[in-house]
Amino acid sequence: MKLILFGPPGAGKGTQARRLQETHGIVQLSTGDMLRAEVDSGSELGLQAKEIMEAGQLVPDDLIIAMISDRIDQEDCKDGFILDGFPRTKPQAEALGAMLAEKGLDIDHVIEIKVDDDAMVKRITGRFSCDGCGAGYHDEFQKPKKDGVCDQCGGTEFTRRADDNAETVSVRLQAYHEQTSPIFSYYKEKGLMEEVDGMAEIDAVTEQMNALLG
Ligand code: ADP
Ligand code: ADP
Ligand code: ZN
Repeated sequence: MKLILFGPPGAGKGTQARRLQETHGIVQLSTGDMLRAEVDSGSELGLQAKEIMEAGQLVPDDLIIAMISDRIDQEDCKDGFILDGFPRTKPQAEALGAMLAEKGLDIDHVIEIKVDDDAMVKRITGRFSCDGCGAGYHDEFQKPKKDGVCDQCGGTEFTRRADDNAETVSVRLQAYHEQTSPIFSYYKEKGLMEEVDGMAEIDAVTEQMNALLG
């Protein structure tokens, strides 16, 4: 199964994709995670992306398209994947279509996680993740069971993203509304667009997802 998750920053794409990865045995492809790994490694791509990401803007399409194309060719993607944070612009959506057609692949589901803009500041400023395993948490909505200890791996080191501050949220939301939402019509025409209520609790959103995916 191949699916695309849409939703503004903080909607819960990563949270839900990680769950689907476990339950459906398909790999999560987060362009944000890939870019952060490039930044940490100090690669050429990382150097190009760092300041753009910190400002909350979008990294140029050609860099992103090359990165995801290489990733989809890897062995672990052959049984399916969840695209989290890609495509984010019309050219990216078109490049994805061409890329998949060339490989004889098709997208099965496109799901938009719908949330109110007003809720996003809280979602984003409260977000942190485990350094050991990448598990995602929230100061208020998804605390570790034991304070300061990761539920998944027992790790005690956590990180907050450099771009997760109130200042970038409005820039990121604007990028979403201006550059990403216009892609929906492209998938609507293909009859693929579906949606879930992302304002519901995390478990309830997962249930809505599972109902759509069957
Ligand atoms: P995205 O990948 O769309 O940017 P995340 O999955 O990282 O979003 O979620 C953003 C933050 O909000 C995280 O701290 C996560 O724990 C929390 N979160 C995710 N889904 C929900 C939800 N349905 N209700 C409340 N908090 C949520
Ligand atoms: P969010 O939690 O806001 O959904 P992501 O982790 O998906 O964030 O992305 C973080 C940042 O990485 C974005 O603000 C942008 O700078 C960059 N980025 C991630 N995916 C893409 C993409 N498909 N196209 C352009 N830039 C991207
Ligand atoms: Zn962990």
